Amino acid sequence: MVSIEDKKISPSKKIIDDVKIQIIYIPLKSKLGYVYKPTVKVGDYVCIDDTLGINVTTDFALKSSVSGTIVGIEKKYISNGHLVDCLVIENDFKEKYRNKLGKKKDITKYSKECFLYMLQNSGITGMGGGDYPTFIKYSTNNKINYLIVNGIESEIYSSSDNALMYNYAEEILECIDAITEIMDIDKAYIAINENNSVIIKKFLKHINTYPNIKIYPIIDAYPSGWERYLVNEITNLNYENNPSEVGVIVNNVSTIYSIYELLKYNRPSTEKIVTIAGAGVRKPANYKVKIGTNFSELMLKTDGYSKINNPVLVAGGAMMGKSIPTDELIITRDLNTILVLEETNQKSEKCIKCGKCSEVCPVGLMPVMIIDSNDRTKKLRIDKCIGCGLCSYVCPSKIEVREILESMKEK
Ligand code: SF4
Ligand code: SF4
Repeated sequence: MVSIEDKKISPSKKIIDDVKIQIIYIPLKSKLGYVYKPTVKVGDYVCIDDTLGINVTTDFALKSSVSGTIVGIEKKYISNGHLVDCLVIENDFKEKYRNKLGKKKDITKYSKECFLYMLQNSGITGMGGGDYPTFIKYSTNNKINYLIVNGIESEIYSSSDNALMYNYAEEILECIDAITEIMDIDKAYIAINENNSVIIKKFLKHINTYPNIKIYPIIDAYPSGWERYLVNEITNLNYENNPSEVGVIVNNVSTIYSIYELLKYNRPSTEKIVTIAGAGVRKPANYKVKIGTNFSELMLKTDGYSKINNPVLVAGGAMMGKSIPTDELIITRDLNTILVLEETNQKSEKCIKCGKCSEVCPVGLMPVMIIDSNDRTKKLRIDKCIGCGLCSYVCPSKIEVREILESMKEK
């Protein structure tokens, strides 16, 4: 773990939610590579709860986020830097639903089967950056003993989860309680950075009603929100591939909030809070927008760009983000932060074999050896790299170690 200097150069807890976006793009391929077969065609009218496509391997539904007409298919960038086909929907701003929305008073009153079915049809995926279909996490045969809710936001600039927790602490608690009841989970922990006293107080104000939920303060260092670290820190357990192997489920706070809306109003996952920040943005802020919003249209409808030299657009935080060649970037569930930064153009130098990259790697990799080795993937466990970017951050030779590893991983 490393303390990142100048942390939290981020916008306030306020959420701006009144930007109206006309054209919505729903990607037919996710960041993790899930491909959706369209169930609609150009010319069709769609409602918010309509299914637009299905992933044939998992039967996971792709949902619309607006009502309107499908007007085409276009390629746009998504958070992993890939250009993918997107269904283009012209929003009619009528917010129409095919099925009637209702408000459920007691959201603990769902059976496990019904909960899983709703998740599968909701389009909810890991909103902390993972993008993994949430229903798969819950469709385990293992007994789940712990639910860990990840409220750690350790990237510089990012504050979308903080804004969400600040504004919706009560709803998040209600939902965690419901999930533990429905899934028969013994205990839930909300992991929050120990210095985040404002948010801790927000939860503590309402937590007494929920004896099975505890706040778990976590050291304020990077990357303390890493799933494997949280599971070990809180439960003392280790796992091979998936926390459910040892009876743990980890969800980001924004995923929990999406589940809340599903259980309370039968509303699929349609919106996302995203931090827009960096020197190249005139007014950094947290925006709640429709999933499928094109960043270029959002900038046109808001205060837009500041003039800076050599702007670079980064999808994700400064440590883990991916630079995107244009601002035709689609805001998907996994995207928490978009930065417009000034390219530093600092030249990298030769590796001096100082070993700093290996010292800081939370996974225990030796990046310098990976870059040098011929047997890269198998022997040196490159697949275990979580892309945290600490190796690049500490490198005195300014080598983009993480980027090199990521392109090797992709190959
Ligand atoms: S930190 Fe940079 S210079 Fe040092 S060993 Fe790693 S890659 Fe080489
Ligand atoms: S090798 Fe991967 S996991 Fe290790 S510090 Fe670099 S980016 Fe992080």
